Amino acid sequence: MASIASSSPCDECGFDIPASSDRCPHCGRPSLFPNVTAAKRPMEQAALEQRYQTALQNVDPACLPILDKFEKSVADQSEAVITRYVSEVYTLAANDCALYGNFYQLVGAGVRLPAENFWDAMRGVVDEKLFTHYKENIRFAALTMNRRGIGHYGDCHVTLKNGMIAHRATAFEENSIVFMDRRKEFLTAELPAGYRAIWQDRGKLAVAKLASKLSQTMTEADFPSLLMNDGAEPEDDQFVEVHIYGSISIRTVEEISLSSGSKTIRLKALKEKLDKFGIRLKRH
Ligand SMILES: [Zn+2]
Repeated sequence: MASIASSSPCDECGFDIPASSDRCPHCGRPSLFPNVTAAKRPMEQAALEQRYQTALQNVDPACLPILDKFEKSVADQSEAVITRYVSEVYTLAANDCALYGNFYQLVGAGVRLPAENFWDAMRGVVDEKLFTHYKENIRFAALTMNRRGIGHYGDCHVTLKNGMIAHRATAFEENSIVFMDRRKEFLTAELPAGYRAIWQDRGKLAVAKLASKLSQTMTEADFPSLLMNDGAEPEDDQFVEVHIYGSISIRTVEEISLSSGSKTIRLKALKEKLDKFGIRLKRH
């Protein structure tokens, strides 16, 4: 049977805090992030380190310099990007009180229906396995090195400020639904360790995942598409998934960019809204 993430004692009152809780249920002290707690478990960190070391050992020695650059670039420069359609982003930018709603909040509030497709059908079980008892608090993003996200999710790419998420974001190997589907994970089996990382270890995760794809002839210009690329179908998209605990507002945003082919009639209005918040609007 899978072991269940265990509780840990509160630094202040000493009583146990459940692994899924974002505050001590006894003394109420806040600022815990269950996804970060999960990625910090010693078995997770040891398994990630093992994958990382194996990746380094297996790489062609001639590729070590470019691998080193890749790891540093991801660790120092990569950001989280959420891709949506302009209309959704406009709503976020138009109102200082607006928050970015995730799937569970929107469905729960009765403002959207789950789509009748594989993704929305699988979302609940996969998320519950990854974020046991706290999936409603997670927002999904992708790791980017050029502030562009995955085109299947929309034409408007919202890059988040690292300083607003680094303490509450974790990185995961790939699209978590694809990950579970590919591995035919049993619902009741323990999630394999070593595929999620705290924000500060995202470079290590990227190396563990992608070291074998590096070649001697690559340059830094190749890094963005190595880290993320659009597939023909959503299941073929390649990216490192980012999980962010808690809410996101327009104040969390660093920059917004539009896909090159995006045709929006609200461009001028969106730009005016974003100017008020000092957020740049770019085109890819
Ligand atoms: Zn406490």
